[in-house]
Amino acid sequence: MLEPLAHVGRDPATGGYVRDAWSPADLELREWFAGEAARRGLGLREDRNGNLWGWWGDPSPRRPGVVTGSHLDSVRQGGAYDGPLGVVSAFAALDLLKARGVTPAVPVGVACFTDEEGARFGVPCMGSRLLTGLLEPERALGLKDDDGDTLADVMTGAGRRPRTIGRDDETLAMIGTFVELHVEQGRGLVTEGRPVGVAGTIWPHGRWRFDFRGRADHAGTTRLADRDDPMLPFARMVPAARELAARHGVVATVGKVRVSPGNANAIPGLVSAWLDARGPDEAAVRALVADLTAEAPADVREESWTPVVAFDVALRDRLARVAGGDTPAPILATGAGHDAGILATAGVPSAMVFVRNPTGVSHSPDEHAEQADCEAGVVALANVLEDLCR
Ligand SMILES: [Zn+2]
Repeated sequence: MLEPLAHVGRDPATGGYVRDAWSPADLELREWFAGEAARRGLGLREDRNGNLWGWWGDPSPRRPGVVTGSHLDSVRQGGAYDGPLGVVSAFAALDLLKARGVTPAVPVGVACFTDEEGARFGVPCMGSRLLTGLLEPERALGLKDDDGDTLADVMTGAGRRPRTIGRDDETLAMIGTFVELHVEQGRGLVTEGRPVGVAGTIWPHGRWRFDFRGRADHAGTTRLADRDDPMLPFARMVPAARELAARHGVVATVGKVRVSPGNANAIPGLVSAWLDARGPDEAAVRALVADLTAEAPADVREESWTPVVAFDVALRDRLARVAGGDTPAPILATGAGHDAGILATAGVPSAMVFVRNPTGVSHSPDEHAEQADCEAGVVALANVLEDLCR
């Protein structure tokens, strides 16, 4: 099933994927999802926030389902597994349940969440945040992409109705339990020597935008003494973030910078930089951002914040037993955010299954998972679903 997705949104120069939410690539992936759901006779629904649901059985608030899935969008220049592995494995696990002759006592759903990565509008897990009411629709609709198009514009362009986005209790009530399978984005399972693990916690994490303002001017005719060059304080901020991260025991990354006007022969007037900070301890992440904000002469705005997610312990342990085979699957903390974390925060019993990533590399074309490990993930997920939908 990964095969027909291999070309969608792929940059031939790098081998990386660019699958922005509501882009032509994303719409093609949505078509693929609809086709896979139809092939299995699943009832297809797209909710008001653009999340896709394929249902085996008919869920209702009185009979909520066991849902599994992930997302199909990618970071820019991402890998083939982050997201799609969870959706493909969800369909494959359903196939396995059917092959085993399982008749679920509750409906089983396959989900694909919209804009998990936040590559286009800067807010990750947009679909699940809107669904659960953790993101205000007014704020979401006004978010702009690099071309200046708002979410409202691009949703309208894709034939959707942006005015209807927002918390969706009707859809939420259909989700009894959510299990997301995901390629691991670290080397925890390599260290454990196991193909499959289970999530313990998701580190608290956030994104902040730093706007350094100066005065745009000519690179040749402006004397050094007369310059107000925002590139200089920005440049000092990057190693400062690194040093403060080490001091506070967290990780911090500046992975996106926008320079305006962005000419090689002009002093910039504005440098915008995005800081991503995460760590096991919320106070430490906050302290890093506070220290950096105090040092940097910039306007700082928090674009997103996700508190620590501790997955339901009983569900987690049940998954570890069922997914692990003879020995319970290892339980791993992760620094990556996921829709499962958003749902857990909103009170939906949620859990995650991780599949080994031999290099640990993710958000890069080099991201990889071995075929045998992917298959072990599908078997583990099927076991989990069979257990949960009894
Ligand atoms: Zn992901």
